[in-house]
Amino acid sequence: MKYLITGGAGFIGSHLAEELLQDGCQVSVLDDLSTGSIRNIQQLKADSNFSYTIGSIMDLPLLAELIDDADAVFHLAAAVGVRRIVDDPVQTIVTNIRGTENVLEQADKKKKKVLLASTSEVYGKSAQLPFHEDGDIVIGPTCRPRWSYACSKAIDEFLALAYDKSRDLPTVIVRLFNTVGPRQTGRYGMVIPRFVRQALADEELTVYGDGEQTRCFAHVSDIVEALRKLMQHPQGRGKVINIGSQEEVTINQLAERVIARTGSQSVIKRIPFDVAYSADFEDMERRKPCLEAARQIIDYAPRRNLDVIIDDMAAYCRENPE
Ligand code: UDP
Repeated sequence: MKYLITGGAGFIGSHLAEELLQDGCQVSVLDDLSTGSIRNIQQLKADSNFSYTIGSIMDLPLLAELIDDADAVFHLAAAVGVRRIVDDPVQTIVTNIRGTENVLEQADKKKKKVLLASTSEVYGKSAQLPFHEDGDIVIGPTCRPRWSYACSKAIDEFLALAYDKSRDLPTVIVRLFNTVGPRQTGRYGMVIPRFVRQALADEELTVYGDGEQTRCFAHVSDIVEALRKLMQHPQGRGKVINIGSQEEVTINQLAERVIARTGSQSVIKRIPFDVAYSADFEDMERRKPCLEAARQIIDYAPRRNLDVIIDDMAAYCRENPE
């Protein structure tokens, strides 16, 4: 099998490329390096089953050629990170909506299966925990730019499901919850790489808001294994499936855990959301997935807990100073 990964030089995409190559597949990557990096795929270049193209999902002829040349597409290219969404909402909306339209349109011509990487952001501030794929979506008003991300990814999901149902294009939609691991950068907001680098430098850990909001963090290795299996399993077709972890922590607990595991002298500093992001910023209080669908289809259960995640991130940050 030959897979095209859009966004394959990104944090998750590059780990997925490795996972597929290890599984004996051929991998082709398309990435515009907006948030991805050649460094992420440097170690793969020597593999004869691997190829990459620097380019955009907005370039239709290029996209058509790469999709033609592949058996199936992992569509991971998207605007990423809360920081980037707040700073460049136009880019977020256009990349997510037009980019996904392009991928689905081109894949449909040759009926190449598409796995769409969606996000737990889609649940917005729903209070129906744990988040179930069939649960209602609760997002805020359009004057708060953060919700453009959730909304644009929800449109992507609608479109993928519509292609599957009315055009018979095989699709599978995976809602990724907070994913962490080596190669992830804190530049676009992600809390664990930020806390780990702050802790290793004995700097203050920047907890936003009161720190009582919760998240569940999953290791990227568990995530990419699940992506591969969901693409390859026929029962994933036409479905929306959560992937992540259920180990829920508050951001305050997370900060304390990072300090303890890295042996840091750091202290915690609380920063109001309006100072960290902008006056119109809104955060979600809790986020936890129901993982029953993934368990039923691919027998999914994350194997790496939060301590392993923090230790792996710390080892990576020690070896790769920013
Ligand atoms: N956060 C924080 N300090 C930081 C970066 C993020 O307290 O330096 C918080 C953020 O406000 C959110 C949580 O950590 O409540 C997770 O943030 P992240 O951007 O990693 O992912 P999100 O779940 O918001 O998409």
